[in-house]
Amino acid sequence: MLAKREVDVLIVGAGPVGLFAALSLVEQGVGVKIVDKHWRTHTHSYALALHPETLRLMDEWGLAQALIDNGHVVKKLGFYDGADHKADVDLAELKSAFPYVIVVPQSSLEWALESRLQQRGVEVLWNHEVTDFKLAGGRAVAEVTRYDKQSLGYPIARTDWVAAEQFQIVATHIVGADGYHSRVRRQLGIDCLTFGDVQFFSVMEFSARGNLAPEPRVVIDEKSTNVLWPMRGELYRWTFQIDEPSQHNPTIERLTELARDRAPWFAPEAPSVVWSSIVRFEHRLAPRFAEPNAWLAGDAAHLTGPVGVQSMNIGIREAHDVARRITEILRGANSEELVASYNAERAREWGRLLGRDGEVTLQQGADDWMGRHRHEILTCLPGSGDELEQMLNQIGMTLA
Ligand SMILES: Cc1cc2nc3c(=O)[nH]c(=O)nc-3n(C[C@H](O)[C@H](O)[C@H](O)COP(=O)(O)OP(=O)(O)OC[C@H]3O[C@@H](n4cnc5c(N)ncnc54)[C@H](O)[C@@H]3O)c2cc1C
Repeated sequence: MLAKREVDVLIVGAGPVGLFAALSLVEQGVGVKIVDKHWRTHTHSYALALHPETLRLMDEWGLAQALIDNGHVVKKLGFYDGADHKADVDLAELKSAFPYVIVVPQSSLEWALESRLQQRGVEVLWNHEVTDFKLAGGRAVAEVTRYDKQSLGYPIARTDWVAAEQFQIVATHIVGADGYHSRVRRQLGIDCLTFGDVQFFSVMEFSARGNLAPEPRVVIDEKSTNVLWPMRGELYRWTFQIDEPSQHNPTIERLTELARDRAPWFAPEAPSVVWSSIVRFEHRLAPRFAEPNAWLAGDAAHLTGPVGVQSMNIGIREAHDVARRITEILRGANSEELVASYNAERAREWGRLLGRDGEVTLQQGADDWMGRHRHEILTCLPGSGDELEQMLNQIGMTLA
């Protein structure tokens, strides 16, 4: 018989979405446990920008100002067809309390969220994997394995992770914020639908002298979608779409070659690659996001391209929404209605973003290039909801 621990909400996954869900629940007085199968996730930069709406949500828990102070403020986004400057989105014109985007590494965001959780008395249970769970009698019963480091081997020592303890967490609600391979989603029997081709991106962070691009620049041609992000000081990131992983070669020669081909205005002084990664993306979506007592948010339920940083930012909005709904249910609200409306709202938003439902239309006088690339442009904008529509309107487009 395994030991049992009881709690209101179990959150599986301590990426940005799980951490924000945990914080949003704790701030509303709900008891949480949050587990992650790995030993601390926040060592990588990955998704690097926070949308205006994300900043507004962070501000609810008093976190926005520190992120703004430690990040790089972006007020404009440029679109290019090679050398041709096609359009600008002026973020300062958005009707938002935070009319800008903040460039901040995902690792810094996760660190800020974990620190705030600690201040509220919640420790992330790192090295804890949910290996199974079932929903029964209005509760989620999860099997959890804790891993410990063990030094093995003689004469050549090595360290392995070994299962040190197994126990159950019994919760009224379980939230699957467990990313791309989500076990929670799979246990619920939900398979993601995929649309379009798999895309590969070569991501290279580099330092260079000179003011290369004060604002992010999206470069779209007939074969690829690419983006140059200013990060902080002399640090920048190029994300190049490539045909296959073998074309990823994180050297300054390759970076310059790709940039010369796609963005002829790019002229760095003394560049040097400091970090790189090859990333596989596809457009995919869970056909439902929730059922009574179980919820999905973030990459567990969807994925889109990397340029507009929509997967993580919309995932954070979902985490906030799930926390609100769970809090209301625990206070007596109708669970079925709140589950059904979450499913309907998520399907509507992602259906439009992934081009399944609705259409981006061009306003009169808009450039042909914008029309040809309207679907790519939609996923490259750093916003969602009303703010996304305002950004589209600025460049002569409407999301119907
Ligand atoms: C190499 C790389 C580069 C990227 N670059 C970009 C980019 O340029 N732009 C962009 O927008 N996005 C990028 N992303 C995607 C971005 O990182 C994700 O959108 C974001 O992390 C999603 O957050 P999440 O919290 O939903 O999931 P994740 O960050 O994936 O977190 C899920 C967590 O769940 C944990 N977990 C999984 N299964 C279990 C289990 N059974 N038990 C316990 N814990 C579990 C995992 O250990 C993980 O920590 C990149 C991702 C990668 C991997």
